[in-house]
Formats: sequence, structure tokens, C-alpha cells
Amino acid sequence: MRLQGVGVGRGIAHGPIVRMPDPIPEPGTGHRAADADTEFDRAMDALKGVAADLSERAERAGGEAKGVLDAQSMMAQDPALLDDVRSRISTGRTAERAVFEAFHGFQQMLISMGGYMAERAADLGDVSQRTIAQLNGVPAPGVPEVNHPFVLVAHDLAPADTAALDITKVLGLVTIGGGPTSHTAILARSKAIVAVVGVADAGALVDGTQVLVDASDGSVILDPTADDVAAAEQRLAASRVEAPIGPGKLADGTDIPLLANIGRPSDIADALLRGAEGVGLFRTEFMFLGTETAPTVAEQQEQYRTVFAAFGGKKVTVRTLDAGSDKPLAFLSTGHEENPALGLRGIRATRAHEEILRDQLTAIAAAAAETDADVQVMAPMVADAAETEYFVTLARSLGIPVAGVMAEVPSCALVAGQVLGIADFVSIGTNDLTQYTLAADRLLGSVAAYQDPWHPAVLRLVKLLGDAGIQSGRPVGVCGEAAADPMLAVVLVGLGATSLSMAPSALADVRTELRQHTLEHARALAVRALDAASAAEARAVVRD
Ligand code: PEP
Ligand code: MG
Repeated sequence: MRLQGVGVGRGIAHGPIVRMPDPIPEPGTGHRAADADTEFDRAMDALKGVAADLSERAERAGGEAKGVLDAQSMMAQDPALLDDVRSRISTGRTAERAVFEAFHGFQQMLISMGGYMAERAADLGDVSQRTIAQLNGVPAPGVPEVNHPFVLVAHDLAPADTAALDITKVLGLVTIGGGPTSHTAILARSKAIVAVVGVADAGALVDGTQVLVDASDGSVILDPTADDVAAAEQRLAASRVEAPIGPGKLADGTDIPLLANIGRPSDIADALLRGAEGVGLFRTEFMFLGTETAPTVAEQQEQYRTVFAAFGGKKVTVRTLDAGSDKPLAFLSTGHEENPALGLRGIRATRAHEEILRDQLTAIAAAAAETDADVQVMAPMVADAAETEYFVTLARSLGIPVAGVMAEVPSCALVAGQVLGIADFVSIGTNDLTQYTLAADRLLGSVAAYQDPWHPAVLRLVKLLGDAGIQSGRPVGVCGEAAADPMLAVVLVGLGATSLSMAPSALADVRTELRQHTLEHARALAVRALDAASAAEARAVVRD
């Protein structure tokens, strides 16, 4: 049997399934059988068990995760919460329902306080789910602890779950939700975990079943034969004729610098090992996802210095904090938003807290002055020339001479000439550009098929930016996941991209593909893709 989803990269993985438990459903409001004291004891036992488990996990995890887990452990023993559970049980609720309602009430209170407190509501929800799971005798939510290699099947993973995946155990990842540019997919690619996302039927997969996960065609084959596995391995080996590490170049010698997308200093080694010619996207918010308060200038300067020093003499493009939607930052949160992808995010959020943006730019300038890296900055989610002017002026006033913007909101592409009249460069974020052009939430598995940067509408916006780059003589790079797709990378160059930035694990394949095409050929392929009627047709005409 074969299931279909959207592959991330083109690796294969083969092994037994371990399922991540589904979220616990809301307990019913039916009446309890036991007396109130017995029922409260049951609730207390479960809460104690969860608190002990969380503090044990905190000790094992250490680092940043320890703080979060310790805080969750304390929530499970909070006296006000225990009182609330007791009083709800005394009015006839079951332990499960009383725990659910008590935690829910506290969650609502935190959400109404906004900011950092609102961000902690999700942690309370997690403790509540763990306690109800314990009461029901079912596995706790989260990645199961298993000591053999496995293919993880999940509805979707939280960013923290994906970041913590043990790559010595997780052979591959199959999710029901998530699109190809969701945080799950991006982190899986950066950890070189083979992933197929948006597999609608994966809910039926059971623990222990052997599967073959093939990211190159987005398939998941159940109980594969030895021949299936051998054929997939052969296909992979045949596609892995890699050009030697060296600068990105087309067949005619045109330079297309190949840069790395990184999120923290620990990503540096891999990027350098795989021959990144610099950093095209430093996602600074990744370092502060678990931070409660805005990082100080000194703290930031230290982290930036480490990255800049490692790329001495090379280009490092730092993106200012991209908070909101899939990348919540407690210290930049504005509370609950019905539709966060269309909310106060990216430059909009940092502009509303300009002191945080100023501190970040100050830290970047100071760190840049300490090394000989060629540092430039760019702002996320910039919509037009006015926002470009705001950011570029601010960056220059704080000592960063080269400032650009990310083009990931369609409006920015539509006024590309105006934007490039001000910005020193543009970097196209195809993940968000695709999400907004096709009105398809990048976190939703149900619309994963729309999250396809091969769509001619997306390519036409890229062309507007590429043309404006040629006219203004300013660089237009691509740093979205599209740059990591070798054939699409060629098309992007044909549309005017002057550099490509990607997860380091994709560099070899893209470097190899670029060397097979001249600029003239890339442009011819781009023309064909632009004329296609759908993403599938664009892909097909270019492959042919
Ligand atoms: C993008 O949107 O393409 C991008 C590179 O930014 P992020 O994926 O971090 O939103
Ligand atoms: Mg983006």
C-alpha cells in the first residue's frame, strides 16, 4: 500500500513506525462514579506523577529546555490550581473534566493578560493534556522515548518537538499536517531528516509497521519488499553524482553564490563543511524562541560575533527578528490573533517595538565591527517602499551601511522597482511569498498542495523582482525553500536570482544541477515555466 504526501528534500528512510500520540480529546461532562475524595485523590496522583515526570525530563534535557520543563512541573503542583480542581470535583465533575476545566480557566486568564503570559498558556495546555492522559491510562502527548531507530508518524510537530528530535533515532518523519515550508519541514531539512508532510491518510498507520519513506516523490510505502527498498536506494544513488565542493557556477561560468540558511551558531560547522560561500539568511529569531524577555545588546552581540567570525571575509545576511505566526516570540507577542499569518508579524512587530529593533541593529553593528565578515541586514515581511525606507534608514543610522529587505509579501514584488530604488538588495522568501500568493497557510496539511513555489503565479512575482534587480543593478537573492529544489533553483536563476541560500544539506544537489545549465538555458526554462498553467505543468515542462 502506498500513501502520498509532499516530500522535503529527496532522501529515503526505511524502518518501523512509532506513532506520536494524538492530542487528547476534551473529557466529557458526565458525572463521576466515585465519591469526591476518591476522585480528588486520583487527580492528585496523576498531577504528582506528571510533575515528577516533567522534572525528571528537565534534569535530562538541561539547557534552555530545563527551564521550560521545570516551570511546567511547578504548574502541575500549583496550589491555586489544585484548589480549583478540588472544588470542581466537589460539584460532581470527574477528575478528567475537573483538570481540563481548571487548566482551561487558567489558560484563558493568561491569554487575556497578553504578552509573555499569553505565550505560557500553551505550556499549561500541555500539562493539562499530560494529566488527562495519565488519568486515562494512555500515552502522554509528545515524541515517545524509544531506544531503537524509527520513522516517526505524527499529526504535526511543535517547533520545539522538531528541534529536539534525536537524529540518531528518528530515521524519517511522516506528518498528516504541515506543508512543505512549515517549521516542521524547515527544521527536518536542516537536521537532514527525511520527511514527507501533508500525508492525509497517515492517521491509519500503526506502530511497528515497516515503511519506506521516499521524499523525492513524497511517497510512503507500507511493508515494502526488499526490491522496493533496493530500487529506491538505487534511484537515490544515481541522483547523487555530486559536483566537487566549490563556488556556485553555471555551465557558462556565471557566478551564482550558494549560501547557507542558519538559525544559530551551532549551525555554522555544517554550513562550512558543505561549502557555503556565506550566509544568505540568518534567522535570528530561532535563538530566542524560548526566551521570555528581549535579549540584551551584549547577549546578542556575542551570538552574532560567533557567526560573523566563522564567516570571516564572507557575506553574512542577518535577518532582523521575524516574530509572529509560526515563529512566536514571547517578548514581541501582541496576544491572541485570529489569523496570525496576516497579523502583526515580521517588520510590523519590531516596528511596533522599535527599541527591540534598535537594540538588535546596534548589536549587529557592534559584532560586525569586531570581525571582517561582510555583514548586511534585511527585514522580514516588508510590504512596500515606505517600509523599506523606514528600515534602511534606521539600519544605516545605527551603523549598518548595507541594508535590504525580504520580498515575501506579494505587494513587495508588485512594487519591486520602487523597493529596489531604496534597498541595497532584495532576498526573496518564497515560503511566505507562496503562502500569500496562493492564500494557503504554510502550516496546514490540508492545503499543502497549494504551497508549491513552482506555481506560475509565484514565478511571475519572482520575475518582477528579478527584472527590477537587473534594471537597478542590485542583487536579488532567493532564500526560501524553493532555492533548495535543484531544478527550481535553475528556473529562479533564469528569472533573475543572483544568489541562492538554503539549508546546508541541499547545497551539494543545487551546486551539481547549476553546473549543467548556461544562463541562456536557465532563462529559456524560466520562460516555459512562466507560461505553464499550473505548478505541476511548470515542473513537468522544465523536467522535460
Ligand atoms: C520565507 O518565507 O521564504 C523565508 C525564507 O522566511 P521563513 O521561512 O523564515 O519565514
Ligand atoms: Mg518568511
